[in-house]
Formats: sequence, C-alpha cells, structure tokens
Amino acid sequence: MNNFDEYQEFTRSTAKYPSETALQYLLLGLASEVGEVHEKFKKPMRDGYEPDHHSIIKELGDVLWYVARIADEMGVPLSVVTFENVKKLSSRLERDKISGSGDDR
Ligand SMILES: [Mg+2]
Repeated sequence: MNNFDEYQEFTRSTAKYPSETALQYLLLGLASEVGEVHEKFKKPMRDGYEPDHHSIIKELGDVLWYVARIADEMGVPLSVVTFENVKKLSSRLERDKISGSGDDR
C-alpha cells in the first residue's frame, strides 16, 4: 500500500470507537501512542541497550493510524495532510526558516 488515501481508507475497516465521541477518543489514542513511542526509547536509555527498531516502527504505525483517523473524521484526505505539510516545510526551506519557532514562520 503506497498511497496515503488508500491507507486512510483501510483504517476505516479497523476503526472501532463510538461515533459520537470519535474525535475525543482519537485524540486520547494519539497521545497514548506517542507515549508508547517515547517508551520504546526511554527504557533502552535507562537500561543501556539499543532501542528495538521493529517495535518502534510498529508504534509509529499506531501513531499514523490515529493521524489518519483524525483527518478522516474531519473529512480530510490524508494526502491533503501530507501535501500541506510538504508545502509548509518547502516554503520554510526556501526562506531559510526551517530553524526557529512559531507555526506561521
Ligand atoms: Mg501502540
């Protein structure tokens, strides 16, 4: 599956949550999965071993699932999310504004 919108459509088949609280549920899920990514780096740092890339890839996939579902619940194709991100970052790159802070730089 190489297409963002095909992936987003696939996520519909695994979307099991109450429709009346969909966005709240998905936002909680996204935060939880980001925490799971952090955990995959934190424990190796504490105990002195290399993070397991395969388990990190799986958690990043969980983050992506929530991003895809949030966009879908808003009626936004995932390809639009990626397009807008590329547009924003390309503009910053052209203007030498990759470093720094602020959403609208
Ligand atoms: Mg997970």
